[in-house]
Amino acid sequence: MNKPLKKKELDQFKEILIEEKRKILRHLEDITESSEEGLSMGGGDSADLASLEINQASLQKIGKREETLLRKIDLALAKIEDGTFGECENCGEPIGAPRLMARPVAQLCIDCKTEQENVERKFSSREPTDDDGDGAGEDSEESE
Ligand SMILES: [Zn+2]
Repeated sequence: MNKPLKKKELDQFKEILIEEKRKILRHLEDITESSEEGLSMGGGDSADLASLEINQASLQKIGKREETLLRKIDLALAKIEDGTFGECENCGEPIGAPRLMARPVAQLCIDCKTEQENVERKFSSREPTDDDGDGAGEDSEESE
């Protein structure tokens, strides 16, 4: 059984998530050529970055995949704030640090995720890309 996350682990995931967000924002900055409403990122502290909202126009310039990831990062950061980070959205069990390490934006525990993927495969008209991003193989390290 997975254990709930410790405070220290939560802090660690927050750092990881913010770094991911920073990467996307940097890419976004590249695309927008630092034009309009300055995404002034320069050395901004993590707390600011965590709550930074990106406007819709800018979001359309990055790919669907990054946009989706960005939303998930924001969601995950919000969960860290309200203390629900690391809980499976389906069954409420702890997702577990190893899975979160591999995929900090994971919203489902491995059991629920596997089940969801099976359902998606059955109704394969639905792209599996709208949940955990890069799809197959992501959970292969879940050997425990
Ligand atoms: Zn679950």
